[in-house]
Amino acid sequence: MKIVLASSNPHKVKEINEIKENCDIEFILPPEGFDPDERGKSFEENSLIKAQEAWKLSHTWSLADDSGLCIDALGGKPGIYSARYAETPQKRIERVLNELDGVKDRTAKFVCYMTLINPQGEVAYSCEGVCQGKIIDEPKGTNGFGYDPIFLPDGYTQTIAELSEDEKNRISHRSKALKKVIEFIKVL
Ligand code: IMP
Repeated sequence: MKIVLASSNPHKVKEINEIKENCDIEFILPPEGFDPDERGKSFEENSLIKAQEAWKLSHTWSLADDSGLCIDALGGKPGIYSARYAETPQKRIERVLNELDGVKDRTAKFVCYMTLINPQGEVAYSCEGVCQGKIIDEPKGTNGFGYDPIFLPDGYTQTIAELSEDEKNRISHRSKALKKVIEFIKVL
């Protein structure tokens, strides 16, 4: 079964293809012209916008994820603004660390919301995956992407950027959501 993956982030596409392991689904890139207007007010709304945009271009099974980092002491920010919190990944990390300077409560979570649209254009399934953890004082590790170098998952002494890809894929918000989607698809 082929599913259009409504994302232009190559890291995500790679991660998602690794997480699906040996299940019989092929995730393919959206057709040319995929440029969703992500102006939703939640991960849920944005993942719906992306999935609908991919469906409009493909008229086939389309899966979108919208994800980000939510930090309790910042009232859930950067949240849906995670990708645009500053100009570059490094500057985004610096902004978060500056905003948390002197803050004791470092609890945070990565959230991933997924929406699956069927070939008729209807939402067939949607779900959320969460990875709880905390923000450390300075970046560590070079694996992964985005905020991985400053995020220590609960139960771990290493940041996600210090973990192997396999380890990240076992615990990540994206893998938790994708596993639910795969369970849904298996019983179709
Ligand atoms: P999206 O592509 O609109 O879902 O934006 C997600 C943004 O959230 C990314 O650009 C990253 O900054 C951040 N993010 C989402 N998932 C991860 C992750 O697994 N590790 C690190 N940062 C992430």
